[in-house]
Order: sequence, then structure tokens, then C-alpha cells
Amino acid sequence: DTNNTSKEADGISSVIPGWFSEISPMWPGEAHSLKVEKVLFQGKSDYQNVMVFQSSTYGKVLVLDGVIQLTERDECAYQEMITHLPLCSIPNPKKVLVIGGGDGGVLREVSRHSSVEQIDICEIDKMVVDVSKQYFPDVAVGYDDPRVKLHIGDGVAFLKAVPEGTYDAIIVDSSDPIGPAQELFEKPFFESVAKALRPGGVVCTQAESIWLHMHIIEDIVANCRQIFKGSVNYAWTTVPTYPSGMIGFMLCSTEGPLVDFKHPVNPIDKDESCCKSKRPLKFYNSEIHSAAFCLPSFAKKVIESK
Ligand code: SAM
Repeated sequence: DTNNTSKEADGISSVIPGWFSEISPMWPGEAHSLKVEKVLFQGKSDYQNVMVFQSSTYGKVLVLDGVIQLTERDECAYQEMITHLPLCSIPNPKKVLVIGGGDGGVLREVSRHSSVEQIDICEIDKMVVDVSKQYFPDVAVGYDDPRVKLHIGDGVAFLKAVPEGTYDAIIVDSSDPIGPAQELFEKPFFESVAKALRPGGVVCTQAESIWLHMHIIEDIVANCRQIFKGSVNYAWTTVPTYPSGMIGFMLCSTEGPLVDFKHPVNPIDKDESCCKSKRPLKFYNSEIHSAAFCLPSFAKKVIESK
């Protein structure tokens, strides 16, 4: 029956009754599971299946096409790192672009930076924005900042139309490269990112897991080394509810003033104004910033060889 079919598309399968199991060809042979207290929302947008459920131990959970995007308990480990790794690596970021990130969590983090004057976001799926505003107010709070301008559309097309040298920083908070985010992992997209950045500008993109996706990472690193003539570095963070419990980021800068990602020059944890009207940072600090670039030997070998 149709109800069962749509539930299965959302990952509420019969593997363990009453549990959400994250089954995907992106991580064959394993499936992290969370106990479901209650399904709060199920819908189908033009791009993907969207679901929200109340879990018993991680708070509310946002799921797109059966893949966990965020949970209330551990979203800080992702949103704070994908944002502050790039923004704390350059002095006085002013213009910032977010691609994806419709939940608003990255916006919340960007808005801690008082130097920032303009925050553009291009999210393809309005349903993600609406659902986040309804079910994740502590994440979607990012939209309340008057510097934020929301564009609903494809990030690839949006970037192509950006005048050269516009942004100080671009943050690509995308879903996995199956579905609408596929092009966000391809070479032409990175080329438009580089063009849209000012000299010495920085990009941080979601770059998958060293345990599961070394082949994807190898391609991203190889492309970025060709395209970005400044620094190219891989960093990572722990996120218990992401497959393999961690996720990586690709940090690159364009030719111009040299960016040393491993040594933040714009340390936000010393700046009290960043947390006056917001909750304090839960995960990010300057020590973890530098530590995020230390890689396990097997990953270091592959990434440095590219
Ligand atoms: N911020 C989240 C977290 O805490 O882990 C992670 C993922 S965020 C919800 C990923 C977003 O990228 C989704 O809302 C998806 O709709 C969006 N997206 C995917 N492909 C896109 C594209 N081509 N252009 C713009 N947004 C895209």
C-alpha cells in the first residue's frame, strides 16, 4: 500500500520495527538506526522525500530521501565546524554565500561574525526551509538575521550568474552526491566557486567520510588542486548520527593573500559579541579548529598524493 511505500522511501523500514534505519547504497552493508518516538512530518517535494521524526535520544531528526541531515543533539558539531573553519581562517569576512543548508544552521553560525555584511543562501528545496522553520526553530533561527537573503533555486545555476570575485567565503552545505546535490561535487561547480570568490577568498564544502568515501574524496581533492591556486586542505569532525560517525570538509582558497587554514587568524571564541543574543558555541574552539586538519595516516597518504 502507498503508505508503506512512502515510509520505506523515508527509511522507516521493517529492519527493526519502530526504528529508523539509514539504508543507502552510499554505505552498503551497514545502517545506523535510531528509535522513533513519533513521526512528525512526511512529505514529498519536487526534489526529495522530506521527513521529521522525534527520536528517543537525539531529539528531532531531519531526513531527506532516507538520509539523516541533522539531529537536534549533534547538529552543532557539523554547523559550527563547516562555518567557522573557513570564516575564522580569514580576517574580516564581509560577503558570504551558503549553497544548500536550507535548515538555516549554517546561517545561524555565519551570523555570529560581526564583520559580515551580506549573507546569501541558495537552497534548491523550499520544503526544507519551511519544515525547518516549523520543527527546528533553534536551527532556523539563522533566517532571523537581517543580513540574510534567501534564494530558492539550484546552487549550480546561481553560482554561474555571480559576478567574478564577489564573495569572501562560500560554504557548500550539501546533501550527498545522489539526487539534487550531485553536481555540487563535480569539477565545473568548483570552477564557478573559484570564479565567484575574491583573490584569497575561501570555500568550505561538505566532503564525505574518510571511512566510506575515499574514492569521492580523491576526486574532490584532485579537482580542487587543479582549480584552487591558494591552499587546499581536508578537515573533519565527529557527528554521531552521520554514517561512520564523522564527516569531512574540503577547504580551499583562491590565488591571493595566502590562507593558512590550520592557524585561525580570526578567532571567534575570543569574541564575546558572537554569543550575546545566541546560545554559546557548543563544539567549535580554536584548538579543535587546528586539530581538525590532523588526518589518520591512511587518509593523509591518499589526500597528500593527489
Ligand atoms: N545543515 C545540515 C546538517 O546540519 O547536517 C546538512 C544538510 S542540508 C539540509 C543540505 C541541503 O542541500 C538540502 O536542504 C538540499 O535540498 C540542498 N541541496 C541539494 N542540492 C542542491 C543544489 N543543487 N542547490 C542548492 N541546494 C541543494
